[in-house]
Amino acid sequence: MSRIYNFSAGPAMLPTAVIEKAQQEMLDWHGSGMSVMEMSHRGKEFMEIATTAEQDLRDLLKVPDNYKVLFLQGGASSQFAMVPLNLMGRTGEADYCNTGSWSKKAIAEGKRYGTVNICASSEQDSFTSVPEFNDWVLSDKAAYVHITPNETIGGVEFDGLPDTGDIPLVADMSSTILSRPINVSDFGIIYAGAQKNVGPAGLTIVIIRDDLVGDAADSCPSMFNYVTHVEGESMANTPPTYSWYLAGLVFQWLKEKGGLDAMAEINQRKAAKLYDAIDNNEFYSNPVKKENRSWMNVPFILKNADLDPAFLAEAKQAGLATLKGHRSVGGMRASIYNAMPEEGVDALIQFMNDFASRNS
Ligand SMILES: *Cc1c(COP(=O)(O)O)cnc(C)c1O
Repeated sequence: MSRIYNFSAGPAMLPTAVIEKAQQEMLDWHGSGMSVMEMSHRGKEFMEIATTAEQDLRDLLKVPDNYKVLFLQGGASSQFAMVPLNLMGRTGEADYCNTGSWSKKAIAEGKRYGTVNICASSEQDSFTSVPEFNDWVLSDKAAYVHITPNETIGGVEFDGLPDTGDIPLVADMSSTILSRPINVSDFGIIYAGAQKNVGPAGLTIVIIRDDLVGDAADSCPSMFNYVTHVEGESMANTPPTYSWYLAGLVFQWLKEKGGLDAMAEINQRKAAKLYDAIDNNEFYSNPVKKENRSWMNVPFILKNADLDPAFLAEAKQAGLATLKGHRSVGGMRASIYNAMPEEGVDALIQFMNDFASRNS
């Protein structure tokens, strides 16, 4: 059996050690005589899996006690609605920063529930940077400020955070959560679809400060009200149990690797060598401003786009899969989340150099 290096943006690679552990435990989890998929979410076995996973995530991110951690369904896209449904009513307006495709989706959804102010945008430079924080125009009436710290499609990542004073910062961290340490207290809400850097699809992580729970309008569907999930401890309805379990195995794997400080070092090194390979070969290019280049999603284009199909076909032959860029930007994109081993990045670089010299 051989596993490919899969550069998919999501669902993405999982650590092989995690999949092997899940395989060992598949038929009989810890002597329970059943697989995790078959367990009651309220039974003592699954409760143990659930509480351990939450504690491990809290340990990894050093989540303060005044934040709740929720394990929900609906994907990050549902949070585009849930955030305004729960918070917008406080003042009727919110600030959104527009850094690309995912910001735009969050903005479009936010507009359904109140006034959206675009406090900053990098659209005029085709989303190749994050707007300078000094130039942001924040409203004192905003109920929150929404950002997308890593734009998965454009490969644009925040370098630092804007100062929003007392106004809570809400962050869609779908493609950057757990890639490095963060200071959770800088945020009011952090949310992330799991299928990029956490675990399998079907699970959405929400980390929310206590004081932001409880302001949803009466008309808010109860399954979209954070109160329901806080009071129900993420079991107001049947949670995505198997994805929760697998995310828990990923958290344990991250702890064994040395936690998020260790991951940050590895991730930075992986990204730096790939960007170097792009910058040092005129066959390839990446348009993103250096300080805003994503550690997780690395888009690049070939100087001659006619060679794209050959590049993709030969890469696949070499065990390097899913490198095609998003349809909205074209070219290539290598997603190199935590589970992509450094050897995978090395193999890609070697292939890129080789392909360039054969086709120059
Ligand atoms: C993938 C992604 C989403 C959408 O996530 P779903 O879980 O599919 O809804 C939203 N935001 C960002 C930044 C993403 O990368």
